[in-house]
Amino acid sequence: MIYLDNAATSFPKPACVLRAVQQCQFCFGANPGRGGHKLAAKAAETVFETRQALAAFFGGDVQRTVFCSNCTHAINLALKGSLKQGDHVIISSLEHNAVLRPLERLQAEHKASYDVLQIDPKSTRTTLERAQALLRPETRMLFVTHVSNVFGTVLPIRALSLFAKTHGLLFGVDAAQSAGVLDLDLKRDGIDLLCMPGHKGLFGPMGTGVLLFSDRVQPETLMEGGTGTLSLEKQQPQVLPEMYESGTLNLTGIAGLGAGLRFIGSCGGTKAICAHEVELIRTLREDLSVIRSIDLYDNLCSTAAQTVLSFSLPDLGSETLASLLDSNGFAVRAGYHCAALAHTRYDTAAGGTVRVSPSIFNTKKQIKNFAFCVNQIAMRKIL
Ligand code: PLP
Repeated sequence: MIYLDNAATSFPKPACVLRAVQQCQFCFGANPGRGGHKLAAKAAETVFETRQALAAFFGGDVQRTVFCSNCTHAINLALKGSLKQGDHVIISSLEHNAVLRPLERLQAEHKASYDVLQIDPKSTRTTLERAQALLRPETRMLFVTHVSNVFGTVLPIRALSLFAKTHGLLFGVDAAQSAGVLDLDLKRDGIDLLCMPGHKGLFGPMGTGVLLFSDRVQPETLMEGGTGTLSLEKQQPQVLPEMYESGTLNLTGIAGLGAGLRFIGSCGGTKAICAHEVELIRTLREDLSVIRSIDLYDNLCSTAAQTVLSFSLPDLGSETLASLLDSNGFAVRAGYHCAALAHTRYDTAAGGTVRVSPSIFNTKKQIKNFAFCVNQIAMRKIL
């Protein structure tokens, strides 16, 4: 099976990640921060090392690097924890439901409101002018995805960050599709809330996510409980970062995530990984574009930066197409990709799209074989 669904979660995981997970379970699977014995200390050390590595990788502070269970959890903590009664948020037209739905709920409960900024993929200037028009006195945050999980569009986060700074807004980024692929630095890029999964481009196991935040914001907790510290206190300890991590942590996931970060380094870093994926998508765009009947969503991102590609065949539902591809040995995602705003904006809400998202483990040959298979399906040679 050729796996091309890395936007959902990366697979396969690198061997070093599997080894780290196994070693953790075999040798020191104790509860970090819940005991003074040697095994608990080793577990706590592993958590600390991964936290430190994440902070260094993304230019954040160790104390403001919080383990979550996935990117959705990190986004919920960022939004619900930071927004106050009456606040207004601007989000992009390419947001995942992980951003849209928490805000819909806050809006329905009259706690906060939001507006959608129509991104112009071709003009940052137009995007900024549109953002300006959405500003209100109560606007407190600009929150955007870095890369669209449907179309691969890369948002101009440095320009948007500058805009946010100029207008005194907090700037949040959903890095679900960019962490581990594009260079990101909390301080340099002026990001206040940086949310990411550990299980996609960072190669950690599922059940991992991270929120890094700047010293301009300190979210409220979403959950209270045991933190392994100040156990006699009735109130939630206000100690960073443990105050956000009540309950037992996903130690094996965190051990694997640490190894995932080291793996990225061993590949030559995000630049090398990005270059590989961009080249694969460039090849795919080229090979698919010869299919006359295809709808290729390739004008929402420049070839130089695209790592995710969506397409459809007009007379075949995307689910049927993906199922035919599955029967022929290719794993891709079809349908709506949990991104209502993006599908509505780009007219793909009728049938959705087939999405291809390669990783460092895919080869050009696999991509060429995939395109050949799509061509055969389009010509009805595969039914
Ligand atoms: N944001 C974007 C852009 C995504 O693509 C995804 C998942 O695909 C998420 C958020 C949610 O990530 P998770 O599944 O880790 O909660």
